Amino acid sequence: MTAIPVAIGVRVPADAATVLADRHAPLLDTFGRVHRDLRISLTDRCSLRCTYCMPEQGNEWLARQSILTVDEIVQVASVAAAAGITTFRLTGGEPLLRRDIVDVVTRLAAIRGPAGDPVEIAMTTNGIGLARTIDVLAHAGLARVNISLDTLRADRFRELTRRDRLDDVLAGIDAAAASGLRPLKLNAVAMRDVNDDELVELVEFARAHDAQMRFIEQMPLDAGHTWDRQRMVTRQEILDTLAARWTLTPVPGRGGAPAERFLLDGGPDSVGVIASVTAPFCGNCDRLRLTADGQLRNCLFSTTEFDLLPILRDNAGGGGDTGGTDGIADRDGDIERLLRGCVLRKLPGHAIDDPAFLQPARGMNAIGG
Ligand code: SAM
Ligand code: SF4
Repeated sequence: MTAIPVAIGVRVPADAATVLADRHAPLLDTFGRVHRDLRISLTDRCSLRCTYCMPEQGNEWLARQSILTVDEIVQVASVAAAAGITTFRLTGGEPLLRRDIVDVVTRLAAIRGPAGDPVEIAMTTNGIGLARTIDVLAHAGLARVNISLDTLRADRFRELTRRDRLDDVLAGIDAAAASGLRPLKLNAVAMRDVNDDELVELVEFARAHDAQMRFIEQMPLDAGHTWDRQRMVTRQEILDTLAARWTLTPVPGRGGAPAERFLLDGGPDSVGVIASVTAPFCGNCDRLRLTADGQLRNCLFSTTEFDLLPILRDNAGGGGDTGGTDGIADRDGDIERLLRGCVLRKLPGHAIDDPAFLQPARGMNAIGG
């Protein structure tokens, strides 16, 4: 049975196929970008309601039946790893809300790339619940965590996230700092008149926890569609504020990483800035996304999705036109075909500044940040 969730953007059916050549060939798009990073959203649900991401009420949740099972996630991830994906980043919504999160990590950690090499498992989390789960997750194979922390002030946190949970987040950060998982990164969306007076404090907090602070420009991905280009805090403003406190030295060799890094007073500590709006890094993007309801996306801002559910849930096992007799192999072939089709249709950039830019219908929590 295939459950179709709330209508979201354009969906490209499974027959939008490409010809399969070598299943280990890299996921190369038409602009020469090789894709190595798959962001896997495990749920659209969350323990917080950050204003820049989710509405306070009235969320259109994904239909429960459409949420991928662990088996389905592992099947897609295995095909992706065979095609050269080297990192799985678990996200959401809040990934720690998945009851089977340890099973997800354990099974993803067992996947091997074409040369038998393990795939790195990372997670982006709001930190709530991390204090009691990080050890078991690390044991299961989790290699790295990024934790979101926009403010250190309880009243601001309550206003910004509409939940009184700052202490739980801080406990999660303490636990992550005590674990061996490195590098540990803390992420803050910089917001005017909300937390833009806390940037230096946040960096100091991160350094005290052996973590790297990263500031993110706010993007037009809030479910409430309230983003305002004129009000967003820019990369330049973030750097000006930090430069008043430290000498910032750019770190070369960024590769496909979203964050530009700067050494603080010559290092070794550093700070990162993710300037998706004013200094987009689309030219080096190596990321693909799998939503919790089985849609492949080639960009955060994409309005087109590639629907894996009919392939994953076709009980005949073939799901397409491969014509073979082995159901699993046929399904893998169909997944790969859609994956490659998704990559080939990736645009050169997100075009936020284009007057014709359309904000995707999904909020960030349902895309997977
Ligand atoms: N719930 C987890 C968390 O908050 O870390 C994972 C999912 S969240 C969608 C992933 C990241 O996206 C977080 O660092 C969050 O701050 C960021 N994010 C969400 N909405 C955003 C927006 N409109 N602009 C920029 N970053 C955003
Ligand atoms: Fe939840 Fe993360 Fe979105 Fe905040 S940013 S509402 S923690 S999914």
